[in-house]
Amino acid sequence: MPYQLGLPFAQHMDTTDPLAHFRSQFHIPVTPNGEEVVYLCGHSLGLQPRATRHYLEQVCDQWATLGIDGYFQGKQPWLTYIQALKPKLAKLVGAQESEVAIMNTVTVNLNLLMVSFYRPTPQRYKIVIEANAFPSDQYAVKSHLYYHGYDPATALIELQPREGENTLRTEDILARLEAEGDSIALVMLGGINYLSGQFFELAPITAKAHEHGCMVGFDLAHAVGNVPLALHDWQVDFAVWCSYKYLNSGAAAVGGCFVHERYADGGNLPRFSGWWGNDLKSRFLMRPDFEAATGADGWQMSNADVFSLAALQASLELFDAAGMDTLRAKSKLLTGYAEFLLRQIKTDRITLLTPSDPEQRGCQLSIQVKQADKSLFHQLYQHHIIGDWREPDVIRVAPVPLYNHFVDVFQLVEVFKTII
Ligand SMILES: *Cc1c(COP(=O)(O)O)cnc(C)c1O
Repeated sequence: MPYQLGLPFAQHMDTTDPLAHFRSQFHIPVTPNGEEVVYLCGHSLGLQPRATRHYLEQVCDQWATLGIDGYFQGKQPWLTYIQALKPKLAKLVGAQESEVAIMNTVTVNLNLLMVSFYRPTPQRYKIVIEANAFPSDQYAVKSHLYYHGYDPATALIELQPREGENTLRTEDILARLEAEGDSIALVMLGGINYLSGQFFELAPITAKAHEHGCMVGFDLAHAVGNVPLALHDWQVDFAVWCSYKYLNSGAAAVGGCFVHERYADGGNLPRFSGWWGNDLKSRFLMRPDFEAATGADGWQMSNADVFSLAALQASLELFDAAGMDTLRAKSKLLTGYAEFLLRQIKTDRITLLTPSDPEQRGCQLSIQVKQADKSLFHQLYQHHIIGDWREPDVIRVAPVPLYNHFVDVFQLVEVFKTII
């Protein structure tokens, strides 16, 4: 795309953007003067769809008028609310409906699925994770190593970029799996690394890991709703994600997980169980023995928070209406535009940590700034540019194709230029 400098180009792009009208489906936060901020923080907390309130009220009304019968009656009976959401969610992650469960939050799901998918033996016990993984993921994988009596110093492989580089090369990841695969029990990477914004090449990584008999799980917190995924076809063993980042379902909204079809009957894997994982047909017979539901549902434990499901419903409808392919096409243009403008700034203080190849990133750009501290972020904030700051020197911004305009990106870089 031949990008151009100057505001008219951004305005032209917005006029011709087939998704531009989706912005009006969201509440955009405003400054004290009532002007819309430049919100570039969808990687952390997505904005509220206007329809969210409607669906939440629907749940409240159903509860008010029906009480317990809200589980079985009303516009959307709570007992099967999840089933109604699954087709849309499954499409977003490239899964069959039965491979997807809607439950818990990211770290809870990661820990639960590692109970099943991290089964170390004396010969095969290591876990692979990327260096700079989201701390919660590091805590979770280390806690499983400790739980099984291993020391992370010898049992955790942290993939580091080469000297002088900011992101991992796929060839290096594959080479490491080739070299140590026979002692690796589980490869667990963030699908998109939260700090660098690198989108790992999940298909070849999965294939190589499987060649060596390793299990493969991905934390898709930064990938779901951001990049196209094909978990089923890639043969991924399991994945987890949240719904409050790109999925716009509100703080701490219910997350999800994927378990590949080949474990539909439980696959002889141990798991921690609860009544919601019991087959719906016998769930309310209240028998003492667990009869697992088929597919990912068998990993559910507790009854689902229906308010969260309502918020997820509002969001998934927008994704369905826009279409992931169209979103991705705009996302590449929008983030590419941000990169183009940032590279025009005449300074040696900034480094883009995120890969330049659009196939190796999603919306987010991570900008490392030499000799900077958090005051830089505060200055952006004072100009109503909402990104976020990661110590010691990284600003993350995510132009989101559902609600950001090209003019947002233009404004970001205009302000950034003046304060840098
Ligand atoms: C956002 C995020 C989390 C947050 O975990 P919760 O358990 O949902 O609070 C965990 N891991 C990654 C990679 C994330 O991006």
